[in-house]
Amino acid sequence: MKIQNVTILGSTGSIGQSTLDVIKRHPDRFAVYALSANTRIDLLIQQALDSRARFVIVPHQMACDEFKAKWPPASIRPEVRVGADALSQTAADSECDVVMAAIVGAAGLPSALSAARAGKRVLLANKEALVAAGSLFMAAVRDAKAELLPIDSEHNAIFQCLPHQGRASAPSGPAPGVSRLILTASGGPFRTRSISELDQVTPEQACAHPNWSMGRKISVDSATMLNKGLEVIEAHWLFAMPAEQIHVVIHPQSVVHSMVEYEDGSVLAQLGQPDMRTPIAYGLGFPDRISSGVGLLDLARAGRLDFSEPDLEQFPCLKLSFDALKAGQGACIALNAANEIAVDAFLNRKLRYTDISKVIDSTLSWQSGRSELNYATLDDVLSCDLHARQYALNFISSTLNLT
Ligand code: NAD
Ligand code: MG
Repeated sequence: MKIQNVTILGSTGSIGQSTLDVIKRHPDRFAVYALSANTRIDLLIQQALDSRARFVIVPHQMACDEFKAKWPPASIRPEVRVGADALSQTAADSECDVVMAAIVGAAGLPSALSAARAGKRVLLANKEALVAAGSLFMAAVRDAKAELLPIDSEHNAIFQCLPHQGRASAPSGPAPGVSRLILTASGGPFRTRSISELDQVTPEQACAHPNWSMGRKISVDSATMLNKGLEVIEAHWLFAMPAEQIHVVIHPQSVVHSMVEYEDGSVLAQLGQPDMRTPIAYGLGFPDRISSGVGLLDLARAGRLDFSEPDLEQFPCLKLSFDALKAGQGACIALNAANEIAVDAFLNRKLRYTDISKVIDSTLSWQSGRSELNYATLDDVLSCDLHARQYALNFISSTLNLT
């Protein structure tokens, strides 16, 4: 078997680190081609030393100088590439076979798209790329005959429960016989709290997810359930499924990762421990199953599995996401952009937790008054994203700012 060269975009993050952990278990199958980091240069050095990466990508010259200065002189140093364009170029390198797209936010869109356009096997963790540019991204996958494997645990579960004949191509329509996709949601750390109790929530409380260990932005998204909203939009694009056939159910134990309901009444589910190494190993090994380091699921010990309907008043961000999906792509771009701005402000203690949904709501209203483009190019998408960010920033500083 030919060894697969893997590029990990966002290797210093939670998904990036889990990906390196799985790769390390399979030296006969995978080699690390390139790694990237935005800020944590010390960790990037450690990762590059451990994995013998051939390239690293850093955001600017200062980070490049730091990387080179701190690199142990006795070891062979990877080539250092600099800047956002280097991410896209490396993702498309002819020697790279697999790209893990694990940068957080719309910042990860250009490089994920570049990997798809170059016909790579794309392991997509970066859900924001699909939310902002679903049609463009899926068309690139189809045109370049790339392989697209969803890494988000819910979508990975759904992929596993759909017929795929060992191929990971972009579908042109809903899979035959499927009536609904059912995404499970833990409900996050505030599942049982009423919205009136959430005014004083701190970033630390919002990031303390009961079941999953994740980066800070997605942890806040899980608390507001905007994350589930992004995942509904992601599922719409990945599986060519209309919004009305995508359902969300609260499942606090995070054991059932999602389900596919068929017209004959069958419901297929994928279960496992809440550990992202399972979907990562699935994406890396597909169609083979390879070990991930995740322990076995002990259902008797789990004891019970609960399910309930989400409360859209308690989680306004989930409702706003369904609204955005119905409204169209401009609204989806605005939803994601406003959320990134709002979550960043909240994490920097410049915005109340309960104001996150207000920023999104206001940005969506503003976007609805703008003319809808067809977002056929990356520039169209990025320009809409930028305008929505500017609107959200202004809205925060003029209406909601805490400082
Ligand atoms: P994280 O914050 O832990 O890591 C983010 C990575 O992106 C880091 O390596 C960082 O250096 C890099 N990065 C951040 N901003 C960047 C920029 N402007 N340019 C280049 N690189 C940048 O995030 P995470 O939890 O690993 O999540 C990564 C992606 O995977 C997100 O889109 C998230 O929604 C998705 N995801 C994560 C999980 C999880 O369990 N962590 C599960 C499902 C999906
Ligand atoms: Mg998920």
